[in-house]
Amino acid sequence: MATPYPHLFSPLDLGHCVLPNRILMGSMHTGLEDRRADFPKLAAYFAERARGGVGLMVTGGIAPNISAWTKPFAGMLAWPWQVRKHRLVTEAVHREGGRICMQILHAGRYGYHPLNVAPSRIKSPITPFTPRALSDRGVERHIRDFATCAKLAREAGYDGVEVMGSEGYLINEFLASRTNKRAGPWGGAFETRLRFATEIVRRTREAVGRDFILIFRLSMLELVEGGSDLTEVVTAAKAIEAAGASILNTGIGWHESRIPTIATSVPRAAFTFVTARLKREVSIPLVATNRINMPEVAEAVLARGEADMVSMARPFLADPDWVLKAQRGDTDSINTCIACNQACLDHVFQNRKASCLVNPRAGRETELVYRTSLQPKRIAVVGAGVAGLACATTAAERGHQVTLFEAQGAIGGQFNLARAIPGKEEFHETIRYFQHRIDQTRVELRLATRADAAALEGFDAIVLATGVVPRVPSIPGIDHAKVISYPDLLSGRRSAGRRVAIIGAGGIGFDVAEYLIESGPSMSLDPARWRAHWGIDDSLRARGGIEGVAATEFKPEREVWLLQRKTDAFGKNLGKTTGWIHRASLKRAKVKMLGGVEYQGIDDAGLHVQVDGQAHVLPVDHVIVCSGQESRRDLLEPLQVAGRQVHLIGGAELAAELDAKRAIAQGCELAANL
Ligand code: NAP
Ligand code: SF4
Repeated sequence: MATPYPHLFSPLDLGHCVLPNRILMGSMHTGLEDRRADFPKLAAYFAERARGGVGLMVTGGIAPNISAWTKPFAGMLAWPWQVRKHRLVTEAVHREGGRICMQILHAGRYGYHPLNVAPSRIKSPITPFTPRALSDRGVERHIRDFATCAKLAREAGYDGVEVMGSEGYLINEFLASRTNKRAGPWGGAFETRLRFATEIVRRTREAVGRDFILIFRLSMLELVEGGSDLTEVVTAAKAIEAAGASILNTGIGWHESRIPTIATSVPRAAFTFVTARLKREVSIPLVATNRINMPEVAEAVLARGEADMVSMARPFLADPDWVLKAQRGDTDSINTCIACNQACLDHVFQNRKASCLVNPRAGRETELVYRTSLQPKRIAVVGAGVAGLACATTAAERGHQVTLFEAQGAIGGQFNLARAIPGKEEFHETIRYFQHRIDQTRVELRLATRADAAALEGFDAIVLATGVVPRVPSIPGIDHAKVISYPDLLSGRRSAGRRVAIIGAGGIGFDVAEYLIESGPSMSLDPARWRAHWGIDDSLRARGGIEGVAATEFKPEREVWLLQRKTDAFGKNLGKTTGWIHRASLKRAKVKMLGGVEYQGIDDAGLHVQVDGQAHVLPVDHVIVCSGQESRRDLLEPLQVAGRQVHLIGGAELAAELDAKRAIAQGCELAANL
């Protein structure tokens, strides 16, 4: 079949097997790996993605022994009796014509349990457990455990294994001088620190034979002080190739790095230059990673010769059919991963099962099923924000006849505001996806139409997804000309002066602060400028890619105050994996954060507040109100009075936790049952 992405869809010959395309579904922990009872769900999850045409997939990390656990009782493959459950996965994938490797992950000092081990007794800054330093015999035993684990993976039917050697986990800890202070055969000079990695690869290869894929994920840009420099990365890559790896995957950053590597504000393909630098050094296939989410991005990486394959993990949570859609050039139908982390990584770090904000079926393939309806109904959905869009298009896909009413002139609701934030440009993709899906599923879209009870006569079911209205706090002077609502600001209806106060420091207050401090085109669209902003050395000469590199000076566009009444830490409820990035950005821009504030009034002088009993006047040009939302449900009562049955979803149902993840999931779940 002709495809607009010829590089992406050219086969890759690994010697003993040929991969149909250059796409690797990278390792992503789902939380289904940890309990035997969840393996049927895990099998269904991978089978759906194999059916979607991925060339090669990698499972979430599986521990080769107990000390390797990421958390207590994490998935492990160390004994023959643990093989059987994995066969459910491999057989399901093979039935669909796919290939799957199992990732062997030893968490090292990142293990969130008291049994964790490391090359040296040095606690990580992100876990409370100090590791035990492995003895030399312990090191030998660990190497054996990796090889045994790989052998068992082969018995379980996997097509290969990926040895996790990056992200600051055990193998990486042996490699880096910051975590390996040992003397003797496994410490000291770089070459001896590298031996742990190469021995694992060599002995694993011996254990599994030649006709088995062995991917090694090598930390190529560590983004921590005391990380490797380019010469060391090249030395490691060559040694790992010589030891028997068949593919080298790219690792960027450690979990403790204070530079974002996969958040939505990271430009697309921002790190492929690292993989490109290794291309001339090794002859086995190299895989580029991080923030590759759409076919044109992946194709460009391969066309530029930066890598032989591209790895995407989260994009396959968002859309299991990504490959088939890309192959036939139907790019607009791809449900794009917007790199929000809200339902995947944030869940994993909270010990919850991973799913996807834009695809709540991810990880729940056996539970959330969209069956064709045997009794098609006429359904009215009011509100084309993400809750309404998800509900309308899913219901239409099931065969219902759906009319979608939207008071505004465009679909998207709050996502239209989110995409205006610098670094949140990806949110546009979700609107594009839903627009395409409306067309595909023949939802009748009535824009600029405010539905009333009369317009909803004759429908078999009514779904109110009318969203929210911003809360107006009762502060004297709240109707002063200086006051701007966040929708007015972000939609461009009003603009702010040089000095601005933000009332409310929730997710939207933080977003608005980012909007106010940046000027000109977004850094997230300019990888080189973004890297300079974070102090990343493009030439790869600096140790760890950052040591001794000064970040470019950031001149905020405005002087900004971010205010909240509570005295809690700022941004406490932001995403687990992204909150620190927002806090770091605002700190850098010298945003003044004032907690424990009592709002006294707004007048020509500015915003009057009291903090710790002291009165202050913030001499601001404008005050932006980001004090939460209230449900918009003015249609509910007339419909109920008329005896109509109404379903409420999204912000219309609950504004307190207005949240796109919940809104889309509610829309899909309701549509599955209509
Ligand atoms: P929010 O998180 O509930 O924050 C509202 C803020 O307004 C609070 O900080 C609250 O702080 C303040 N506030 C509430 N009532 C007030 C009143 N009457 N007068 C003055 N201040 C008041 O709501 P949001 O910022 O609008 O965000 C809504 C949702 O959007 C979030 O729950 C989140 O799910 C999502 N979101 C997340 C992100 C992100 O994670 N990056 C970004 C955007 C949106 P005090 O009571 O302490 O003053
Ligand atoms: Fe991507 Fe967000 Fe879905 Fe995770 S939750 S896969 S980051 S869209």
